[in-house]
Amino acid sequence: MARRKKIYEGKAKILYEGPEPGTLVQYFKDDATAFNAEKRATVDGKGVLNNRLSEFFMTGLNTIGVPTHFIKRINMREQLIRSVEIIPLEVIVRNVAAGSMAKRLGLEEGAPLPRPIVEFSYKEDSLGDPLVPEEYIIAFGWASQQDLDDMVALALRVNDFLSGVMYGVGIKLVDFKIEIGRIYDGDFMRLVVADEISPDSCRLWDIKTGQKLDKDVFRRDLGNLTDAYTEVARRLGVLPTNVTHTTKPTLIN
Ligand code: UDP
Repeated sequence: MARRKKIYEGKAKILYEGPEPGTLVQYFKDDATAFNAEKRATVDGKGVLNNRLSEFFMTGLNTIGVPTHFIKRINMREQLIRSVEIIPLEVIVRNVAAGSMAKRLGLEEGAPLPRPIVEFSYKEDSLGDPLVPEEYIIAFGWASQQDLDDMVALALRVNDFLSGVMYGVGIKLVDFKIEIGRIYDGDFMRLVVADEISPDSCRLWDIKTGQKLDKDVFRRDLGNLTDAYTEVARRLGVLPTNVTHTTKPTLIN
């Protein structure tokens, strides 16, 4: 059997050539990294959970008319996606002060913000993904003013959707990161949500207890990461029946 072509390998995912032009297969690994990959571990079952959770969020976004790269889940660890040209920015939306913002501004983690705040980091691991002002983004040609306006609008729609979904299961969406890609249709270009949406890229706090249900559990050694992600998946009703092992072939719809 021919080995399929690997297009790109990142810290948590691998991209393979897809079955048709313009498509890719996105494979979710069990690898967890933090602090610009200084901290690493393999977390059994994380890839399976993130594949399911990202499918759940992206499908919901597609349904309400927020375009994403997601086409369909293929199996436990893989999904079919549209190939996009990734804009080299991390788009971060914050509802509550936490993480790098709390540190930078001397705010207490959990301090409410006056309104959702969208910020951009330049995606470059060797520089530690520095925060960049819109002025840099336009001057260096990473995106146009129109793209930026569209990215902010897209990010805020994702925020409203995710906040509502999470609120419904007793979880506060503190902040999250998305990546945005370009798809070209003839002379037209549109922006779509790409990469993944999962507890790896969100801060999720239990509304009642404040318990962290996201990658901070790994970053800050707060317990078992798979348990935290499983709890999110369970509440959303997307818990896979068999996380790590399949004893016999299982047909997945
Ligand atoms: N985030 C991410 N990837 C990154 C940086 C941040 O997914 O490379 C997410 C992070 O999980 C959090 C949000 O973006 O939900 C804001 O992260 P922050 O800037 O506070 O950085 P951190 O404290 O994680 O370094």
